[in-house]
Order: sequence, then C-alpha cells, then structure tokens
Amino acid sequence: MTAAAVAVPWAGWLPGRRREAAGIVDAACVRSWLGVVATRLEAERDFLTQLDAAIGDADHGINMHRGFTAVMARVGALEEATPGQLLKTAGRTFVSTVGGAAGPLYGTAFLQVGEALGDDASFGPRLLLDALRAALEGVQRVGAAAVGDKTMVDALSPALGAFELELRMGGSLETATSGAREAAAEGMRATIPLQARKGRASYLGPRSVGHQDPGATSTALMFAALEQAVLADRSQRFAGGTRRRGGGT
Ligand code: ADP
Ligand code: MG
Repeated sequence: MTAAAVAVPWAGWLPGRRREAAGIVDAACVRSWLGVVATRLEAERDFLTQLDAAIGDADHGINMHRGFTAVMARVGALEEATPGQLLKTAGRTFVSTVGGAAGPLYGTAFLQVGEALGDDASFGPRLLLDALRAALEGVQRVGAAAVGDKTMVDALSPALGAFELELRMGGSLETATSGAREAAAEGMRATIPLQARKGRASYLGPRSVGHQDPGATSTALMFAALEQAVLADRSQRFAGGTRRRGGGT
C-alpha cells in the first residue's frame, strides 16, 4: 500500500503537491531524525550510563554517544544520498565504532531499515512499518532476545506493534509515529520489574530486578526522536516550505 492510501486527516484541504507530501519521509527528514537522536543522546548520555552502571558496565551512554557522533560525521559527509543509503551508512558506522552489545545490535537494526527502504527517494508509513519489522528481526537474529528478556526488544517490539495497529485503524504517519513513541516508552518502563535474561545484566540474575534497561531506554529515545523529526518536517512543509528533495510519491 502506498502512503496515499493511508488516511491523512487534513488531506481534504491540501492542494496538489502538498497533499502528496503529507505522510512522506524523505532524505532530509531522515537526516533530521538522526540529528535529533544525536542531540538527545548527548543530553541523555550520563543518564544512560547510570542505568548501565546499575545492571551492566556503565558504558551504554558513552557507547551510544560515540556511535552517533561518528554517524553524524559520516552522514554529514554524504552530500546526495537516499534514505536507504543514509541509514545503511549509519548502521555500518555503528558496527565499526561501537563494541559490546549495542554496536552490532543497533548497527544491524539501522542496516536492516536501510536495506528495507531500498533506493527510493522517499517512503511512506507502510514501507516504514516493513523497515521497522526488518530491524526487529535483525536485532533478534543477532541477540536472540524475546519480549520480556529486559532488552531493547522490550521497547522496539511494542513500538512496532503500535505503529502497525495505528496504520490498520486508518492512522497517518504522524499518528503511527506518536503511537510508536508512546508504546516504546511504556515498554521501556515495563523493563523495571523484569529479571534480565540476555546480555550483561543477565549475569546479575534476580539483582537485575528493579532497574530500567539502558538499551530499552535508548530505543525509546530513538522513537521519540522519530516523532519529533516527523512532526517538525510536517510543520515545515505546511508552513509553506516547498522543500522537496527527491520523489515524494
Ligand atoms: P554492553 O552490554 O556490551 O556493555 P551496552 O551497555 O552498550 O553494551 O548495551 C547494553 C544494552 O544492550 C542492554 O541494556 C540491552 O538493552 C541490550 N542488549 C544486550 N544484550 C542483548 C540481546 N541479546 N538482545 C537485545 N538487546 C540486548
Ligand atoms: Mg554496557
């Protein structure tokens, strides 16, 4: 299904080109998403590291911040790139600059999203749903974690579920992204009472109970950043911004 087939509440009054632009993500929006993630990671670096200090080795914030600083440098150097190329670059950069669990897991997630988006100049919510599904499959292939194991999967999986449900109910890219952000945050909070069954935190056994999982927290941050980027992009378009970089079909 194309983006045009997904209900866009305000489409009724949108003239031609702007109507097409609603519900579409292009390379500029992807760049803005990565930029918001980098900014938020910088702000949350110490918090993420504190969470990891409680049930891991106190490096999650440092890892994520280092990875995203490198991602922004590489992506910034790519002048012309499709959303898929940007996200594949982000994934490869993450794998090569971040060790531990987060490097290969997030690296795979971004690579899978980039692969799923193909070579198109822009994409709609249906393709984004497929890409998120590919990301979850990639993370589970690498890390073998299920929901309830107290990992990033506890935020990613419900976010994907909420995104899909929202689209099924006729929602738009914007409402689906909001639903995903909310579900990811809820999944993140739900890790607190869980005992870790994967990763470093699992070595603590029952002592991992009562702490929020760092990886679920950084995943929730990424969905909050996605919503922020999508909403900012929409306001820009509807404020008369005619910025178009590539397609938009
Ligand atoms: P490390 O554990 O190697 O120090 P990080 O501290 O950067 O790496 O990342 C820890 C996070 O990685 C955990 O909070 C958890 O969310 C996630 N994680 C660890 N192992 C797995 C796994 N097998 N599957 C999914 N996520 C995992
Ligand atoms: Mg760690």
